[in-house]
Formats: sequence, structure tokens, C-alpha cells
Amino acid sequence: MITYSIEDLHVLFKNNQINPKNYYDELFKEVVFQQKRLNAFVTVTKDKAYEDLKDAHFHSLLSGIPFVLKDNYNTKGILTTASSKMLSDYIPVYNAHVVDQLKKAGCCLVGKASMDELGMGGTNKTALTGPVLNPWDSSRIAGGSSGGSAAVVASGLVPFALGSDTGDSIRKPAGFCGIVGFKPTWGRISRYGLIPYASSLDTVGAFTRNIRDMCIVMEAMAGRDDRDMTSSMREVPCYLNNLTDDISDLKIAVLTSVSDEIRNPDILSNFQFVVKTYKKLGATVENVTMPVELMRSILPTYTIIANSEATSNHSCLDGIKYGNRQDGETPDEIMIHSRTDGFSDHIKRRFILGNLALASENQERMFRKAQKVRRLIVEELNKIYEDYDIILTPNSGSVAPLLEDANDDRLNDEYIILENHLCLGNFAGTPSLTLPSGFVDGMPIAVNVMGRLFEEQTVLNCAYALEKVLGLANQYSREG
Ligand code: GLN
Repeated sequence: MITYSIEDLHVLFKNNQINPKNYYDELFKEVVFQQKRLNAFVTVTKDKAYEDLKDAHFHSLLSGIPFVLKDNYNTKGILTTASSKMLSDYIPVYNAHVVDQLKKAGCCLVGKASMDELGMGGTNKTALTGPVLNPWDSSRIAGGSSGGSAAVVASGLVPFALGSDTGDSIRKPAGFCGIVGFKPTWGRISRYGLIPYASSLDTVGAFTRNIRDMCIVMEAMAGRDDRDMTSSMREVPCYLNNLTDDISDLKIAVLTSVSDEIRNPDILSNFQFVVKTYKKLGATVENVTMPVELMRSILPTYTIIANSEATSNHSCLDGIKYGNRQDGETPDEIMIHSRTDGFSDHIKRRFILGNLALASENQERMFRKAQKVRRLIVEELNKIYEDYDIILTPNSGSVAPLLEDANDDRLNDEYIILENHLCLGNFAGTPSLTLPSGFVDGMPIAVNVMGRLFEEQTVLNCAYALEKVLGLANQYSREG
């Protein structure tokens, strides 16, 4: 099976240079092989893909294009587990808004991808179906929580997949897997039908192998949807038509509060090279900082807000209406037994924390305080955006960790600041894109560009200019 971008596959289909049916036959053979190697799928939707293919006319860019959904997008009649035992037999009766949008555009659903349980994690080791492995080296994690989606794109199976991003769940795995991951502005895409994690942070986003494909996918999904009152009324620009690599009038801020924490010399020199490249491309590039106490507050603030909102959102997972149900004499007992059995320990820990922060005696000094600190952090970011269009940072201080080394709780500045700064984009709701910037020890590494609210185009242009110079578009790994 040969791997193509959306644009190339579209041309081949349209001009009858590839027989679509044969292409999908090959694709599903490769899916079987890659599933054994990477464990990225919860469900393979082969019949659905062929059914979708029947409607394809191949005249528009996405018609007949295969794609994968993270398993927290509701799909009518198709198992949707969010990789949790709690939802292990849940078959939705409706589609998420973006699923309908992509169907309208003619896309064919190949499968539902594994994730950290309910989106809560950064390793994809907490999925009910077991860890997802990295296509470049299967002794390493793909990252999380959208690890399955990242792995199916990075192994070249499909040109795009949807993820969701609450703290960094698209951008971290994108970086670890050597592909593009984009979390647009909060409100740019309807979240109707996305199983929530933390509503003030959750964002629909995608993985592709190049920036042009990302423009196509974003255009198909963005826009107002009356079923999600937080979705924006703003017009959706033609991202692809407006795409340019001329960034000579762009002002880029290098956030050294993050890049100063890099310990790995190869990752540091790669980052410095990216900075130099942007200068060569004619952009104004300057260093900026944020107060260290605010940088150190990102993780605890995130932890309190995300877990509080998750605790509230997931109170509906009670075994009564749908999902995992255990026996009990009374409704209360059914709920207690179902929830005790349905959630793994790390989810329970997060719910305990969320309940603690929301309890009336603690709410002011925990949940409300975290909201105030979030506001301070966002105000500091906005000060940077008064003078700069883009904030540039390294995506991570390491390559994808080995499976046995990966965990979510280390406590030094390198971890606290460098590995958690991406949720600045969730705090502020700003568009944030990760793209590959090179390789260290045979593994991909990446940088992140973050723009102002609703300035997706600027972010895409900034990334496109770098992508062209680095020549790392369309990379994938089938055998690592
Ligand atoms: N790793 C972070 C967490 O566990 C982010 C998850 C996400 O963005 N969904 O909360």
C-alpha cells in the first residue's frame, strides 16, 4: 500500500489513476498488519468505509478520503468507548457534529482510535484495549491522549484522523509521532457529540502529515453549529486558498521560559535551528519570557480545573442510562457498583481530586482560585500577543519515552514547565499547532506555534513556511 496526502489521493481518484475499491482492499490489509504492531484501533469499521465509499463522487477534495476518529466522538450505530470500561458497550444513537460534517464532505470512516481513558492522560497507556505503540519505534509510546489517532496517521494508514485536545492531547502525540497536530481556537469547531473531558478547555482538532491537508480538514469542520452554543458565528476562511509561506511581516515571540528548560543538547540545537530559520525567512523573531511562578502554576491550575470539570461532566456516567451496569438493590447501589467497576484507579483519583476542589468548603480556595490563576496566566499571554502574532516553543524536551519510562507525574521544572506548557493554548483558547522539526536518535521531534484567537490562518502560514524549508512533510513509518 502506498501512502498519499489528501490532495494527491484526491487527484488519483478523480483521474481514475487508482481504483478506489482496490485502494481500500489494500488499506484494510495494512490495517490488520499495523493493528498487530501498534494496537491503535478500538474498532475497525471496514463495512462502514465501503458503505461510505459507495457515495463518493471524487469531485471534491475529501470525497472518498479515508479517515479515523478518536473513540470519544459519538458515531451512530458504531461502538464508542472513549477507551473506558464504563462505555465498553456503548453504541450511540447519534453522530457528533464533525462526524456529520466529514460525512457530508464525502470522507470514509476506517475506524475508531484508542485513547487514554476518557481523554485523561498523556501516554495512551491507560486505554482499556492496552497501550498504543509508536510507529517509529514500537518500544516507545505514541503519546496521549489521542495516541491511536496519531499512530494511524504516522504509520501512513490514513491521511488524517481526529483527536481532541484538553491540555495537549493532540499536540504531544503529534510531536512524538512526527506529524502535524492542530488544536484550533476554542469555539472554532462544534463539540456537539464529543464525549467531554473539561468543557472550558476541550477542543476538536486533527492530525495530518502536512499543513495543506490540515487546511482542508479544518475548513470541512469549522463553523457555527446551533447544537453547541459555544461554537462561534465567525465566518470560516478558505484556509487552503489563503495559505502562504510569505511570513516576512510576521512577528514571532520565542518563549524562552519554556525553551530554557530544554536539557537534551540535540533538541536544543534543533530548536535554535528553527529560530534561525524563521529569522532567515524574514520574520521578526525576539525572545520573551513569562514570570516563572506563573509558568510553574500552569500544571496545578490545569489539574484542578480539568479534574473539577471532568468530575462534573462524568457524573452522568452512572450505569443507569447507558454504559457499564452492575447489579444493586437500589438506584444508589447500582450507581456505586457501576462506577466502582467502570472506572480505573487513575480516573477515580482524578474524580476524588475534582470532588475535593468543588466541595463547598474548598471551592473558593481551590476551584475558584485556579480560575483566577488561569486568568492571570492568560493576561500575561495576551501581553505577548499585543506585540507578536505567534509564540514559538519546543513541543517537548524529549523524544517519545520508552513504554516503561512513560508516566504523567514527575516534579522538576523541566517536566512541570516544558512538558506542560502546551495547555497555555487551552487556558487562552488560542490556536496551537505542532509540526515536525527534525529527528533525534532516530525519533521525530517537533516545535509548536501558537497564534491569537481565531487567527488559524496565521498559525497555518507560519507552520507552512517552516515545513517548506525543513522538508519534513508527509513522513510516516511502517516498520520501526
Ligand atoms: N495529559 C493531559 C491530561 O491528562 C491532557 C489530556 C488532554 O488534552 N485530553 O489531562
